[in-house]
Amino acid sequence: MGQEKFTFQAEVSKLLDIVAHSLYSHKEIFLRELISNSSDACEKRSFLALTEPELTPEGGARIMLAADAKKGTLTITDNGIGMNHDDLVEMLGTIARSGTQAFLDKITSEAKSKDKKGGKADLSPIGQFGVGFYSAFMVAKEVEVLTRKAGEDKAWLWVSDGKGEFSITDAERGEAGTTVTLHITKEDKEFLERPRIEHIVRTHSDHIAIPILMAGDGEGDGEAGEEKLNTASALWTRPKKDISSDQYTEFYHHVGHGFDEPWMTLHNTVEGMASYTSLLFIPSMPPMDMFHPERKGHVKLYARRVFITDDCEGLLPSWLRFLRGVVDSQDLSLNISREMLQNDPKLAKIRKGLVKKVLGELKKKAEKAPDDYTLFWSNFGTVLKEGLYEDLENRDKLLELARFRSTGSETFTSLADYVERMGEGQDSIYYIFGEDKDQVAQSPQLEGFRARGIEVLLCTDPIDEFWVSAVGKFQEKPFASVTKGDAGLDKIAEKEDAKKDKGKKKKDKAPDLEPLITAMKAALDGEIKDVVASTRLTDSPVCLVAGEGDMDLQLERMLKQHGQLKGDAGSLRILEINPDHSLIRLLAKRAGKGEGDMADAAHLLLDQARIAEGETVRDAAAFGARLCAVLEKGLD
Ligand code: ADP
Ligand code: MG
Repeated sequence: MGQEKFTFQAEVSKLLDIVAHSLYSHKEIFLRELISNSSDACEKRSFLALTEPELTPEGGARIMLAADAKKGTLTITDNGIGMNHDDLVEMLGTIARSGTQAFLDKITSEAKSKDKKGGKADLSPIGQFGVGFYSAFMVAKEVEVLTRKAGEDKAWLWVSDGKGEFSITDAERGEAGTTVTLHITKEDKEFLERPRIEHIVRTHSDHIAIPILMAGDGEGDGEAGEEKLNTASALWTRPKKDISSDQYTEFYHHVGHGFDEPWMTLHNTVEGMASYTSLLFIPSMPPMDMFHPERKGHVKLYARRVFITDDCEGLLPSWLRFLRGVVDSQDLSLNISREMLQNDPKLAKIRKGLVKKVLGELKKKAEKAPDDYTLFWSNFGTVLKEGLYEDLENRDKLLELARFRSTGSETFTSLADYVERMGEGQDSIYYIFGEDKDQVAQSPQLEGFRARGIEVLLCTDPIDEFWVSAVGKFQEKPFASVTKGDAGLDKIAEKEDAKKDKGKKKKDKAPDLEPLITAMKAALDGEIKDVVASTRLTDSPVCLVAGEGDMDLQLERMLKQHGQLKGDAGSLRILEINPDHSLIRLLAKRAGKGEGDMADAAHLLLDQARIAEGETVRDAAAFGARLCAVLEKGLD
């Protein structure tokens, strides 16, 4: 078979175009990315060799670098898993990962703005997006990949100048593995210099557990002159005191594909029923795929230094999926399948230990550095809350860690602090659901609470609607929605009123609402469940609430948005009217005398209540006609 030509997937072409034509700072990261790929490939091969010992590479895994100043080439050779024809087409021609478009947008806009200002854009985040390989085109005008997959006979040569096309040709390669050859551009000649290469490897790739060797320069180089550039012992196996924070950060970038600083680094060794070492990182910025429906974890599992999987379901709960890092255990059996591993009781022990450790450290941080903890919570709180819903065992600890916006504090508050602030007569923890903190804070249903100085939690994560009903109470105090059922404010209201001038209450004795309620019910028949006098309103004339046993307003809206509830399904609402509002008083008086038609007013008030909920008016034409009619009457 001769040479086959392929065009890159459109996204790859776009990416390559940007990579090749923009000025970048930190260009040296291309080497980190290629070494990282080689290291991944070696780990994959050792995993296969567990069950197929004939795949073990001779002389052990290694990565070899060689620079040839005359030819202008830098080569990175590994004896890892290698790629076959189809792998090449798929891995080095397309981008399968989600978030690519986001990355493209980010680097395009960055490159453009930097170009204008004469500065340089930073491509270092590239690894996080699963496109690290393409960073080679920052420094190379042509890239060759000569590769043979372990266990297969055929070798292949992939070649591209990064301009829209690549070719694949039959080739020869003695040993399984991959050689990436970069034809370095004139401007980037520095990457052919040995001291520069050594420096890059020491700063960016020292933690790589596989030896990275530099071939001796000059003609006919062989074994002689080879030099090991990295420490080549897995970072997590080294004593904490010997690891600098830069080394931890570099390792985090490698293992977590992150480009931020870790917010927290947890390095621990546990001996006992299950012995293991864990090196876990909490990122300081939310990873791209955090809300991917698969909710996959990314912590790598090793058994006695051998990489097993980065996708082990039982290792950590999915509500900790933002963690990055490695777990290495002495006790896991190397020769069982990944599927069986998930049911290994040792794994369950490890998981328990890890969760305990992470939650314990978070608790410490929350106590010692509350502001810093708030930062963490605003990044990952939404994910941790999934645990409130699905992890009974850790629910109490998670409730302690949870933070909320509330009407009673500028910053986030804990539930314990909320409970401590609860006044006499209040026996529930009040909350309101909504999409946006500022918008929910305006809800009419909050008026009565505000007037009585009762704090309300502003719950704006969709997940809130689920865990709150699952959890039910905190410190024996039930959670209660301010938009549902009886607000329970009467008790507190009486107390507050009693303190005020008693005479006043008698003087503006509330009008008899019954005739108005009857008239409104008749007018709104079929549209609402009931009309009742409200205790939760002070300024607005009306609001909507859900019946005691019904679905909360926002939950229903959310389910409708997500297509889980169709059309008009859902329960009818209760319309609450404010007996202290002047409009309601006037209407009540008229209704009492049997004067006037209440239908227009009833419909307009219902529409007003819907608008306050952020809903749309159901019948815009009828609304317009009524509004005009009422205004006209007023102007008569
Ligand atoms: P990522 O490493 O995040 O998957 P890259 O763009 O760096 O993204 O690499 C793309 C893919 O190409 C890798 O996932 C791997 O399958 C393949 N690959 C790259 N380099 C090598 C290598 N040296 N040996 C084997 N496979 C490789
Ligand atoms: Mg990579």
